[in-house]
Amino acid sequence: MNVVLLGAPGSGKGTQAALVCKNLHLAHISTGDLLRQAVKQGTELGLQAKEYMNKGAFVPMELVLKLLEERLKQPDCKKGFVLDGFPRNKEQLEAISKKIKTDVAVLIQIEDSALEARLTGRRVCTSCGETYHISHLVTERCPKCGGALMIRSDDNVQTIRNRLQVFHKETQPMIEEYKTMGILEVVEGDADMLTVYQGIMEAIKKHDNH
Ligand code: ADP
Ligand code: ZN
Repeated sequence: MNVVLLGAPGSGKGTQAALVCKNLHLAHISTGDLLRQAVKQGTELGLQAKEYMNKGAFVPMELVLKLLEERLKQPDCKKGFVLDGFPRNKEQLEAISKKIKTDVAVLIQIEDSALEARLTGRRVCTSCGETYHISHLVTERCPKCGGALMIRSDDNVQTIRNRLQVFHKETQPMIEEYKTMGILEVVEGDADMLTVYQGIMEAIKKHDNH
């Protein structure tokens, strides 16, 4: 079962992808996480990617594809995966279609007005990677592991606006193609985490022929 999870920045893609993977025993492939890892490790690729990410622009596809291809070779991807953050435009869709078969594409739909508040309030644990919203935090430490929390370097207002703009210009037209292919499912994203999760699980089940 191969799932593509779609949604604007802040739609909750990452959180939902992790939940779905845990439940269905699928591999979680996040191109954003792969890129951030490369940046953290200071690899050549990471250094190149960093400038684009900080501006809220797409990293050149060749770089992302390189990380993605390596990731797809890992044994855990054999049983299926949830792809989170790729493809993001028609060019990327074409590239990935040559490599993998997608069973279903699930779009988490949500208004822009709800997204900015979500992203500016996002905090990430520096030690376990869990994400939170400040409105749910009582201390400045990670509730799960006690680690220090930080703001992602691309979660500032200017970069957020860019990311949203790029989403509408590049990603939205690509989503139409999944619709044409007959594998698009849309789930309302402005709801609590569990409700969104249940919507996604139902959407996936509709396309599960395994
Ligand atoms: P979000 O979806 O909230 O923007 P991600 O963690 O998925 O967050 O991605 C963070 C950044 O990584 C993007 O703004 C972009 O610069 C880069 N990136 C991730 N996936 C891709 C991709 N498929 N193509 C190009 N750039 C990407
Ligand atoms: Zn933590």
